[in-house]
Amino acid sequence: MLRETVRALAEAKIAPHAAAVDEEARFPQEALDALTGADLHAVHVPEEYGGAGADALATVIVIEEVARACASSSLIPAVNKLGSLPVILSGSEDLKKKYLGPLAKGDAMFSYCLSEPDAGSDAAGMKTRAVRDGDSWVLNGVKRWITNAGVSEYYTVMAVTDPTKRSKGISAFVVEKSDEGVSFGAPEKKLGIKGSPTREVYFDNVRIPADRMIGEEGTGFATAMKTLDHTRITIAAQALGIAQGALDYAKGYVQERKQFGKPIADFQGVQFMLADMAMKLEAARQLTYSAAAKSERVDGDLTFFGAAAKCFASDVAMEVTTDAVQLLGGYGYTRDYPVERMMRDAKITQIYEGTNQVQRIVMARNLP
Ligand SMILES: Cc1cc2nc3c(=O)[nH]c(=O)nc-3n(C[C@H](O)[C@H](O)[C@H](O)COP(=O)(O)OP(=O)(O)OC[C@H]3O[C@@H](n4cnc5c(N)ncnc54)[C@H](O)[C@@H]3O)c2cc1C
Repeated sequence: MLRETVRALAEAKIAPHAAAVDEEARFPQEALDALTGADLHAVHVPEEYGGAGADALATVIVIEEVARACASSSLIPAVNKLGSLPVILSGSEDLKKKYLGPLAKGDAMFSYCLSEPDAGSDAAGMKTRAVRDGDSWVLNGVKRWITNAGVSEYYTVMAVTDPTKRSKGISAFVVEKSDEGVSFGAPEKKLGIKGSPTREVYFDNVRIPADRMIGEEGTGFATAMKTLDHTRITIAAQALGIAQGALDYAKGYVQERKQFGKPIADFQGVQFMLADMAMKLEAARQLTYSAAAKSERVDGDLTFFGAAAKCFASDVAMEVTTDAVQLLGGYGYTRDYPVERMMRDAKITQIYEGTNQVQRIVMARNLP
């Protein structure tokens, strides 16, 4: 029922704007309004903080169905979870009450600030610094590639509080857009997910109260990694949705397109491509859903499954969308059809929340 509800909403209110959002590289405001109106913008927020209380699998289904229509728009529910999960996992009761309520209501979005210009895969090499000053922390530094930066009100920011301890000297904080000294760079000009703003975030002597720290001092990196164990599954969901959108489009196209006097769907070469696409996609879906169940239960093998689901589903999305372009021939290569956008959008799922090389490192260190 949830899938049907989200699919109907996405087809009616999100899909019609997907091409324009991509072409104009603009924020999908229609999608935000539609998702917020249906209480689907941040479904993961627990009921006790005013949220819908969706479990990890339900959250995956929401993201998957939005991504099937528009990958950029699916980053609204996905990044709301990514940005706020550190607070949910490790924050004080006061922080949860203060920040999860407005998120659940749709009054504020949440972003996640881990990456920096010189610290991507090696996130623990970050330089953003937080220094204690009485009852405050003062932040200075630059975060790069921050999804929904400028649009979000709230930012979970990882910063170095003890430079002698590397990852154990990193702490997490909630920073608000309106805190003095916070500013944003120009939107990145990207290959895909063009409707999702990606910008640098600058912290110039940003003074915040000490109670904005998430968890204990020195636990920020551990919280950031624990968060990714759960949210990589939402990127897998995004990949599934993009791939399903491309497969559905290609499936329809091959029935209509005629060559050699018959629909190209009659050619076994075309049928075998579609069969492989559907088979790989279903395997990715099953892995993603079982990873979501593990996320909900916080199973001991979650780290492996989160990385495996994200890695496998994103590789499948890249293959399936590339094959969808192939099935449309020359038409697939143009912006008159949606599959080239889906192919460009799929690529990012192999890169963010840790590249697929990094996922393989994570899997190898956590073999079941
Ligand atoms: C559109 C977009 C949105 C993003 N959103 C966010 C966000 O909201 N918040 C956030 O914090 N970050 C975000 N990111 C950052 C993203 O997570 C990083 O780009 C990613 O982790 C890779 O880091 P990097 O770009 O510095 O690449 P690098 O780390 O420089 O990697 C370059 C290449 O080297 C490879 N490599 C690096 N180390 C190893 C190794 N040990 N073994 C094998 N190969 C290796 C990588 O796999 C990659 O192929 C976003 C990025 C993009 C492009």
